[in-house]
Amino acid sequence: MTKHISVAIDGPSGAGKSTLAKSLAAELQFLYVDTGAIYRTIGYYAWTHHIDPKDAAAVKAALPEIQVELRYDGEGLQRMYLNGEDVTAEIRLPQISAYASAVSAHPAVRAFLLDMQRAFARTSSVIMDGRDIGTVVLPDADVKIYLTASPEARAERRCRELEQRGTPEPFVKVLADIEKRDWDDSHRAAAPLRQAEDAVLLDTTGLDFDQSRAALLDIIRERACL
Ligand code: C5P
Repeated sequence: MTKHISVAIDGPSGAGKSTLAKSLAAELQFLYVDTGAIYRTIGYYAWTHHIDPKDAAAVKAALPEIQVELRYDGEGLQRMYLNGEDVTAEIRLPQISAYASAVSAHPAVRAFLLDMQRAFARTSSVIMDGRDIGTVVLPDADVKIYLTASPEARAERRCRELEQRGTPEPFVKVLADIEKRDWDDSHRAAAPLRQAEDAVLLDTTGLDFDQSRAALLDIIRERACL
């Protein structure tokens, strides 16, 4: 049986995890799994059904009605389905970030999504990004990376991304949202965002995309002996 390689990339929002991981997965021919999109899908359900995302009991009661599926299209891009409907674009609406963060704090939600995430690493070589991949989802990952950057650098990148998407927001608001999400994600009781002890730290504050990508590729090649 071929050994599957697993690469876990964790870190705060806006550190560039998904863009970098997607690009590296294409080069290494690994499956890219964006786990934030899975939490966003649950957050989107709460938003469309007027469920308070902070209400643990209400969110837990809704779980049996939620079917989340992660599929890949013809170009290998990840698409999210909620009860059979493609919600890939909708889950990126700015208001869904806070909903995703709130629902992801509930242990019932994390337990609901755990097997689905692990299953990908059992059947393929993967680059999986999120907040707790190296600490909880894939504690035996071959390579663990904690990717971060200063809140200001991350807010600048997010602003550019929102502008390109046609939904611009002021820098101060984006920065405040990022700092709040950092705090919430790292202070929750269930699977808080933190660097795994055996993860390599990469701070991309002064690095552009190509430099960050090269640094990540070096870490992966060295750790996974590729
Ligand atoms: O990565 P992204 O910003 O799309 O994730 C949205 C939210 O989902 C995060 O703020 C975080 O609260 C949650 N999340 C998580 N665990 C993961 C991935 C995302 O709790 N593995």
